[in-house]
Amino acid sequence: MWNRLKTLAVNSRISSFTSKLLHCGIGIYRYHSVQENPADYENLIGPTIIHSEEVFKRQIEFLATHYKILSFNEGLSQILGEKPSGKRSVMITFDDGFVDNFRVALPILKALGVPAIFFVTAGAVESREPPWFCRVQNAFRSTKEKVWHDSLTGVKRPLTENGDRSEALLAASRRIGVLTDGAQGEALALLEKDLQVSWPTEKGSLMMTWEDVRKLVHDGYEVGSHSLSHPNLARVNDMDRLRAEIVTSKHIIEDKIQTEVRGFSYPNPIFQPHWDDTVLEFIRQSGYQLAFTSVSGMVRQKDNPYTLRRLWAPLSFQEFCWVAETACFR
Ligand SMILES: [Zn+2]
Repeated sequence: MWNRLKTLAVNSRISSFTSKLLHCGIGIYRYHSVQENPADYENLIGPTIIHSEEVFKRQIEFLATHYKILSFNEGLSQILGEKPSGKRSVMITFDDGFVDNFRVALPILKALGVPAIFFVTAGAVESREPPWFCRVQNAFRSTKEKVWHDSLTGVKRPLTENGDRSEALLAASRRIGVLTDGAQGEALALLEKDLQVSWPTEKGSLMMTWEDVRKLVHDGYEVGSHSLSHPNLARVNDMDRLRAEIVTSKHIIEDKIQTEVRGFSYPNPIFQPHWDDTVLEFIRQSGYQLAFTSVSGMVRQKDNPYTLRRLWAPLSFQEFCWVAETACFR
């Protein structure tokens, strides 16, 4: 019943009419991975951030039909105060730098002539290794162990029920998500040893190559930074490491693509907040023009360009339309 009501509301396009009256701002969608067969990657990336190719295509077609999809430049001018266009505005962003963005999502975006911004985890692209959260997902989803004997704390956590497994995964994520660089690698290696798993390298790298990233730029797409090693930046207390995550990641990407990197997307919203005043100061000083959070909501004119809200793109087409059409009231 509720779903039928949602569909009716979407089809009636009442919200389109009201949101025009409200000038409710820009809806910035946050995507991660788009796969032909999402089930093949659930253990490696996590089931909640993979869109099927088919659903993604329908979602982008829906946006291209009913909304003005803004480029980075158009978004920047609207956010800084230029008058919005008559049509409702959205932006499309991708976090992390997965190779499927290039192989699966890009052809769909290109066929529809739609702009997008790709935030890449510079360290993961450079090393061709997945971001830490993929290895944590894989460890807990593929382990045959019934108990996690945490060798760091001595705590034993059961893994038999799905709920236990999710809790253990979250506990490990909270520990590893604040680490950077070598400490992060060591913690991951220890976890994989505890759970008797290894990363299935036969699947190939999940990440784009720099060549792929350069092709995105060549095709007119905006590439931004998603840090070096994907930590929660508000929890990184070492200023040199924090500078590296924000400033060095920008310089590495710029060097590889020979184009200015103007956007940043804050990683790891497992912890809130995922940025703080020190982080914002580094962002400002490094010359970024826009920075995107994972806080849900619309972006209004004259909002702080360094703390832009985004919208979660649900994995089903119907839910997506509902979010799109009611975004103004969120
Ligand atoms: Zn991310």
